[in-house]
Amino acid sequence: MKPIAVLGAGLAGLTAADELRRRGLPVIVFEAGRAVGGMAASFKDEEGFSYDYGAHFISNRLARALGSESICRTVRHYGEAVTVNGRNYSHPFGLMLDPHFLAGAVAARMTRHEGRAPHAAALFRRLYGEPMAEAVAIPLVEAWSGAPADELAPSVGEKFGNSVLKSLYLNAAAKVTKRAVCNGYTRTMPEGAGVYHVYPEGGIAKLLEPALNRLSGSVRLESPVERVVVERGRVAAVRVHGQDIPVSAAISTAPVHVLPRLLEGSDALDGLKGFRYRPMIFVNLRFLGRHLLPDTMAWVPDRKQTFFRVTEAPFSMPQLAPEGKTLLTFDIGCEVGDERWTMSDEELAKRCLDGLCEIYGEHLRASYLGAGGTIRTPVSYPVYLSKYEDERQRFSRSTGVEGLWSIGRNGEFAHILMEDVYWRTIHRMEDVARYVGGETMVEARATGTQAIAA
Ligand SMILES: Cc1cc2nc3c(=O)[nH]c(=O)nc-3n(C[C@H](O)[C@H](O)[C@H](O)COP(=O)(O)OP(=O)(O)OC[C@H]3O[C@@H](n4cnc5c(N)ncnc54)[C@H](O)[C@@H]3O)c2cc1C
Repeated sequence: MKPIAVLGAGLAGLTAADELRRRGLPVIVFEAGRAVGGMAASFKDEEGFSYDYGAHFISNRLARALGSESICRTVRHYGEAVTVNGRNYSHPFGLMLDPHFLAGAVAARMTRHEGRAPHAAALFRRLYGEPMAEAVAIPLVEAWSGAPADELAPSVGEKFGNSVLKSLYLNAAAKVTKRAVCNGYTRTMPEGAGVYHVYPEGGIAKLLEPALNRLSGSVRLESPVERVVVERGRVAAVRVHGQDIPVSAAISTAPVHVLPRLLEGSDALDGLKGFRYRPMIFVNLRFLGRHLLPDTMAWVPDRKQTFFRVTEAPFSMPQLAPEGKTLLTFDIGCEVGDERWTMSDEELAKRCLDGLCEIYGEHLRASYLGAGGTIRTPVSYPVYLSKYEDERQRFSRSTGVEGLWSIGRNGEFAHILMEDVYWRTIHRMEDVARYVGGETMVEARATGTQAIAA
């Protein structure tokens, strides 16, 4: 039987390949880079600070599913804050305790709205009321999308978490169990008191090791898939290092605007070529002390600042920084080649430090130990422009090419975290197995017929 090609050895690609292997199907994973992991990459510097390239926060349920639970430590606390006009609010309930925001939210809930909200800005005004939408939700969504909120589809709001009652329950469960119970982390699986944040020894990339070990020999590094060859509407081969390898199906985790350029023999996905992802810069700064932020993650909906979010990972995972020190990661939205993208690392670090001191106090400058590395990534957040919406929804049902699937965060063009990537991938592999199983039957029948004819 021809193998199934998987493009990419991040969480989605390795999960897909491992699930197909478990079902007894032959699979080859082609990874463009020198290492597996994709966005799940971690490293530690000589001074003992640990950095994760993308994800920091995962759940015990994901760790268990990946076979990595035994190397994970329970996270005792995780919280988010929003800093507006110099005041820190806990998220989500602190904002609701502010009379101005509360009055706006109540008024919005009491207003009757006809039909669906036409865009994200309208959705936020309906959900949170005018004051909170204008001060918090709209500036944040615009910073991470790089587009005006009235050009974004309301589906961007699907990312936001649970109902008030569910959040209250999950917050209470966290207090009682003294564990960082997940709240709004996954949309695919139910959240409850038994699903909480954990962190693997050695960094997030360690999570993928059990799957990688099971797949030993089937993962080819530094092997970008150059073309997916489609014949008569079906995937027939992949081209790697200039050679065509016949395959029974292909599963891509590449960004959706790249996938149509990989297809040879089909223009079915040309509508995706213009889809945009928001590039990001992540600036890491090291400090003396701990708990410099109001909570693990602080949202900064302040258009004057370069960054819109700061994360103090050691707030929740103390082992990620040496004793008595901490690490802050600043998220900066940008476009490739713009002023921010081309700014020197020193200037970016200076702007982040200045902004931090302006918001949280000048005293922090004395604790600053220096920059800990800057990461620029051209593909970070899918931009849910309204004009993509029909195509996006069509694509979420099928690629339109027989034998081709597109999975994972960039592959689905979905703002999803690792656990959703995992379960959605497992689910999709049922379709792949059915398709490939059917293919095998057809081929077996054809071969049988030829044998009889001979
Ligand atoms: C800033 C940020 C913070 C995040 N924080 C969290 C968090 O706290 N918790 C959480 O759960 N999730 C988080 N996530 C999301 C999480 O990191 C991703 O959902 C997950 O890692 C995506 O995995 P993936 O396999 O879909 O994609 P990727 O990890 O991007 O893997 C895709 C792989 O495909 C390879 N590839 C691409 N094209 C080709 C080709 N043509 N041929 C061969 N290989 C190819 C790439 O080199 C890459 O290795 C975060 C993401 C970002 C960007």
